Parts: sequence; structure tokens; C-alpha cells
Amino acid sequence: MPRLKLEGLSKIYPGGVKALDGFSLDIAEREFIAVVGPSGCGKSTLLRLIAGLDEESGGKMILDGLELNGLPPRERDMAIMFQNYALFPHMTVAENMAFGLKLRGTPRAEIAARVEEAARMLGIGELLGRFPGEMSGGQRQRAALGRAILRRPKVFLFDEPLSNLDAKMRAQMRVEISRLHQSLPSTMIFVTHDQVEAMTMGDRVVVLKDGLIQQAADPDTLYRNPANAFVASFIGSPGMNLFPGRIGEVDGSPAFLHPLFSWKLPEASRPKSAAYAGKAILFGLRPEDIGSAAARRLEGAPTVKAVIGVVERLGGQACLYLQSGADGFAGSEAKHEIAFAARPDDAQGCHSGQAVELPLFAPNGKFFDPASGISVF
Ligand code: ADP
Repeated sequence: MPRLKLEGLSKIYPGGVKALDGFSLDIAEREFIAVVGPSGCGKSTLLRLIAGLDEESGGKMILDGLELNGLPPRERDMAIMFQNYALFPHMTVAENMAFGLKLRGTPRAEIAARVEEAARMLGIGELLGRFPGEMSGGQRQRAALGRAILRRPKVFLFDEPLSNLDAKMRAQMRVEISRLHQSLPSTMIFVTHDQVEAMTMGDRVVVLKDGLIQQAADPDTLYRNPANAFVASFIGSPGMNLFPGRIGEVDGSPAFLHPLFSWKLPEASRPKSAAYAGKAILFGLRPEDIGSAAARRLEGAPTVKAVIGVVERLGGQACLYLQSGADGFAGSEAKHEIAFAARPDDAQGCHSGQAVELPLFAPNGKFFDPASGISVF
């Protein structure tokens, strides 16, 4: 039995905005679910419905067999954390942490023990006497986290809790929350617009767009086998390159044809490609599959000629943003610019304006239907 079962959860706001559209997911005990998507895709709405801060328009939520619909937030056994820490400014960290338990009439000795335990887990023992105004953003976030831990909820809900922190602190808190997840028997649902956050923290990542689940899978599957073109380009930085072309023939064999390159399809792809013979299709290839050592070694690898626009240097590695002018297919008149990204192994030595010819590790590519965006083979 899943710990938390979400079944066809929907929310239509007054005025007709469909913020969430039939969201269904079974979440296991101790699972860390990261929900990611662009601004306005329904992430906060999802958390607010689960927490009971807003009323669903349809669907069911079941926690350990108990139907949550209609229950007030305090009866749901959950803790929610937002990007603003919602600490009381006139109370010390210890008082802030203890506040909820005091209200519930928890014995004083037990509160003290739990505060101490949570402070130890988060390394904030020396901050317990401070007021929120005397702490950094990261320390305040930790104090808020401590308050949530103290309640020992079955489910932790995080609504972009790290987005107010600077990059270094964000990275630290990511690790800290992951560590906390390993030591607590709780389910965690973390929503963010940052795919790096989602991919590094989630046991499973749910990609949401326009209130609809695009894909729910472990990070590796999401990266390697995106269910559609949206997931392919949303996940990864930069995302998967999408080359619009068509299925035709080279030397009598089915092939993907693009103005910059062509590629004879491997045997395994041929049956599925038949439905697209003569038709448009999108070919997706990750930047690291362009110009890589593996691509150089690949027999019959197609190559693309392009000019480097920008070299983005990231210390140990670099990413190239390239342009290539291409004649359209026969019949289409204009020469057009094609832009894509690549991470060749020798990118460090490259410079803007340089002309390059890069091999493609095409077998790692994915084909998507150009109308629906769905992955087809
Ligand atoms: P996210 O958290 O992914 O940015 P939200 O869940 O906040 O997205 O919002 C999803 C959609 O619902 C958006 O189009 C947003 O404008 C709309 N929305 C959110 N809250 C309300 C509200 N109280 N009334 C009307 N529309 C809302």
C-alpha cells in the first residue's frame, strides 16, 4: 500500500484556470518526490491541496488508508515549508521550534529533548538562543526545518524552500535535506522550478506542465528516456537538442534526414520508423553526445559543420553554443540558421567564431512526433 495516494487530483480556480488536471501518483513511505516544472505549471497548487490549505475541485488523497479530503490541515500529519521561513521574529530559535509542540500540550521535558535532537541533526545547536533577525537566510531555513522535524510528520511538503538562498547555501541545503531524508522515516514532496534541484534530490521526479504530469520517473530514466519533447528539453542544462527533419532513405535504407546531416537508422528502429516514412519527425540528441570521444570512435557517425557562437566555461568542462547555416530541404527556399549545444571533450580549447566539424553519437538519440511531442522510438 502506498503511503500517500493521489488520485485524479484537480483544481480549477474561480475564473476557470485549470491549475491541476487529474494528478495521480502513488508515493511510497520514505520516498522523496521532486515535482518540477515552469512557473505557473501547478506546483504550489498541488502542495496546497495536499496540505489542506486549499480545496480540490476533484480527486482523492489518501494517507495510510485515511481519506484526507475535507480534513483541516492540522489533522493531516504533514509539515509544509515555504521559501519565507515563517519564523516568529520575537521568539528565539528554540522557542520557534518548540511553539507547535507547546500548543499541543507536549510535556516540557519531551519538548526539550526533541529540540535538542533536531538541533543536533541540523547542526544548529549553538543558534538556539538567537532571534531570526540575528541569523543568515540559510540558518533561518535550518531553524524552520528544525521546527518541522520536531513535529515528526508523516509527510514533509517543501514549496521552493531554497529559492531565496544564494547559490552556495542552496547547494549546502540540498545536501542537508537529502541527508535528513535518509535519517527520517518520512515521505518528502519537494516542488521546485529548478531541474538541477529536482534531479539531485528526488528518488522520483515528476515533470509538470500546464497542470498535467508529463512524466514521473527516476532521474536517470527521465534523462535518458524522456517521454516527450518537453521533458527532453526541460531536463538537462542545456536541455536536449531537438533537430526537426524527416524520415527518408539513404542507399535504400530508412534514414533520418536533416539539412545538416543524415543518419541511417539501426535495424531495431526500422519497424517503428515505418509509420513516419516520408514524414516530419524530431530527432533529440543531448549536448554530450555531440563531439564526444565515443562519437569520434563511432563508425559511420554523422557529422555536423558549425561555427561556435559562445563557449560557456564551467571550470572542468565547457559547453559550446553553435550555429550552422543550412539549405532547407528540396523545395523549401530559404537558407536558415540552426542553433544547438554541444559538449565535446576538447571544448575547453575552443573559441568563439571557430569553425568546427563534430561527430554525433546518434544511437543515443530519441525520436519525437512533431505534432504531439511524444517519444516514438
Ligand atoms: P506554480 O507553483 O507551478 O508556479 P501555481 O500552482 O501557483 O503554479 O499556479 C498554477 C496556475 O493557477 C497558474 O496559472 C496560476 O496563475 C493559477 N492560480 C494560482 N493561484 C490562483 C488563485 N488563487 N486564483 C486564480 N488562479 C490561480
